[in-house]
Amino acid sequence: MTKTIAIIGGGPAGLMAAEVLPAAGHAVTVYDAMPTLARKFLLAGKSGLNITHSEDFSRFSARFGRSSPRLHAALEAFTPDDVRAWAAGLGTETFIGTSGRVFPTAMKASPLLRAWLRRLEAQGVQLKTRHRWTGWNGDGYRFETPEGPLTVRPDATLLALGGASWPRLGSDAAWVPWLQEHDIAVHDLQPANCGFDVAWSDVFVERFAGAPLKSVATTSDAGTFQGEFVVSKHGIEGSLVYAHSAALRDRLTRDGNAALIVDLMPGRSIERLVRDLARQDAKASFSNRLRKGAGLDGVKAALVRELQPDANRMAPDALARLIKALPIPLVRPRPIAEAISSAGGIAWDAIDERYMLAARPGLFAAGEMLDWEAPTGGYLLTACFATGRAAARGMISHLENR
Ligand SMILES: Cc1cc2nc3c(=O)[nH]c(=O)nc-3n(C[C@H](O)[C@H](O)[C@H](O)COP(=O)(O)OP(=O)(O)OC[C@H]3O[C@@H](n4cnc5c(N)ncnc54)[C@H](O)[C@@H]3O)c2cc1C
Repeated sequence: MTKTIAIIGGGPAGLMAAEVLPAAGHAVTVYDAMPTLARKFLLAGKSGLNITHSEDFSRFSARFGRSSPRLHAALEAFTPDDVRAWAAGLGTETFIGTSGRVFPTAMKASPLLRAWLRRLEAQGVQLKTRHRWTGWNGDGYRFETPEGPLTVRPDATLLALGGASWPRLGSDAAWVPWLQEHDIAVHDLQPANCGFDVAWSDVFVERFAGAPLKSVATTSDAGTFQGEFVVSKHGIEGSLVYAHSAALRDRLTRDGNAALIVDLMPGRSIERLVRDLARQDAKASFSNRLRKGAGLDGVKAALVRELQPDANRMAPDALARLIKALPIPLVRPRPIAEAISSAGGIAWDAIDERYMLAARPGLFAAGEMLDWEAPTGGYLLTACFATGRAAARGMISHLENR
């Protein structure tokens, strides 16, 4: 018997579920609030669409922190290799970049999304845009549509509404109180892969906002990573900061303060810095001593001055230690609306291994609205795809057993 399935949210997680279900003979309708589908996926394509990662699967599947054990089965059933094969099946070949990250050769999402939506329509999936879910109406799902209010009563429903970052692309987290009212535990949504506010002086912002700090090493509770980040008018931004953002955010919440520790010259040993700084003429300007003794100028030298105004009076060994471990004190994470992704969401305790919500049998959830987070590197999309597929399999098994 054909069953009706509603997928609410047409991002990567919802669309992945939609492609699994028709094969089991179910009639699938995808509802999305926006005029077009998968806007965040398209935006991710603007920076190359890092679709997955090529590292060893055991490392890959451990990138989800506390949620790794819960995500493992879904990821094992749709591995990074499967992601690449799936994209190739839609005419999008991929390549492995120097960092191990995987990108489409075209470095964008639009050809992949176009082919994907065409294939879904060919599978008989109904795609309904401008249908905003607004909560429950008894046992029905209520939508606002251009034709007026609509209530649907599908045999099973998947929520794939995303997190709370970049709300203008569709995922505005309006669903949080609706689920909580139905006794579904939702942990606070928080910014992930985000920048941080720093109390820069006006002079520093005026001169250096937008300046990249290249070839630095940064340390937090997350570990030490090399790369570059950017000074912004509010604080710090960029992939090297995002790699630390969960650890820094959690420390700020726990302790009320946190700092990113920056080694401005990872290629020079502290001994060499002490020696070279000690050789400088004490009467030379601080800028000259930093440049000649430590190879620091531009934004790097300005950062030393900004964060340690009396650095010019420091002895060579103290100054060398500062250059190797300069703490940038953080005020707060940037707002969630600017973050790449969000942490928090539907608690793992609220869903079973089929991705069904215990409080509402027949209702499933997938993608970023679940309580997991991961760094950038293709982990986010892969987990959205994988949980979408896992939830679809869960729906098939639920409908068979009913
Ligand atoms: C700038 C940027 C760059 C990124 N780059 C990458 C990258 O390179 N690699 C990577 O792995 N990840 C990247 N991400 C993250 C990735 O895009 C997301 O993790 C992913 O899109 C989440 O998928 P999802 O299906 O769970 O939710 P979403 O993509 O957010 O989709 C949810 C859908 O639900 C719809 N919706 C929400 N509320 C309602 C409602 N009430 N009624 C109906 N529909 C609703 C929305 O309109 C939306 O279409 C990036 C994110 C951003 C912001």
